Amino acid sequence: MNKREKVTIYEVGPRDGLQYESQFFPTEQKIKLVDLLADAGLTRIEVTSFVHPKAVPALSDSAQVMAGIKKRPGVTYSVLVPNMKGCEGALASQADEFALFVSASQTHNQKNVAMSLEDSLKGFTEIARLALEAGRTLRGYVITAFGCPHEGAVPLDSVRRILDVYAELGVREASLGDTTGMANPPQVKDMVRRLLEAYPGMGLAAHFHDSRGLGLVNSYAAFEAGIRVFDSSIGGLGGCPFAKGASGNIPTEDTVNLFEEVGLDTGVDFDKLLKAGQLVKEVLDAELASNTSKSGRPNWQPSGEETNHC
Ligand code: ZN
Repeated sequence: MNKREKVTIYEVGPRDGLQYESQFFPTEQKIKLVDLLADAGLTRIEVTSFVHPKAVPALSDSAQVMAGIKKRPGVTYSVLVPNMKGCEGALASQADEFALFVSASQTHNQKNVAMSLEDSLKGFTEIARLALEAGRTLRGYVITAFGCPHEGAVPLDSVRRILDVYAELGVREASLGDTTGMANPPQVKDMVRRLLEAYPGMGLAAHFHDSRGLGLVNSYAAFEAGIRVFDSSIGGLGGCPFAKGASGNIPTEDTVNLFEEVGLDTGVDFDKLLKAGQLVKEVLDAELASNTSKSGRPNWQPSGEETNHC
């Protein structure tokens, strides 16, 4: 049997997803969720954000969550680091990777973090130095990389300007964020191809939102253009409070299903993944946005049970 090509799913639900939930997801349930996600075979998990508790009350327990999870060998646990204060918290935690973020659009960056994107980038220098010195790795988000709800089209040069800084700082992977779901497949292919060519030394990941139902098609377009790391969120949790109408991240269940369905290896145990989704559903008492969590175990994973009722 041929060895299947691998794709990596970077789980953002506990951070990108839960940060927008109005009801507080209890700390012990967050810890349980992260452990279930790791148990399902996800090897990269963004656990929380060391953001000011007043800015994002939903993640005010970041230190406790990081202290409570059972770290599994082979899993990289990341945390979002918005500023120096957050960096201190992250350094004191057992996080393996620090994730930085900036918008490719000036207006969105102002609205998101109340500073110019130049100031955001400047602020990363010290954080990156401290992180690398402490043996942690760096990931960098480029938010609104495919379009901005305020400014419209985002020139490729705006994205490149950020990637140049990330490369200098020692960021090992940049994640291209379609924060408000404005991307389309040909645009994704074109942009990804150009960026992969321009930054051969830097890993690129794709981070799609499903605001207009194009999240998975865009992911596949990014795959065809050469990306092998995909951000997704358990149950499709998440949104963007600063961009009206922007709905959640692409659901991890559906993303895993897509790639397994076309013969790629995600390394994820789908039944265990459903368990993690079930926890989210129970705690939030809400329907999940993922399709495959409703339709049950897909065909690509042989099952003893009959699941194909039409
Ligand atoms: Zn997102």
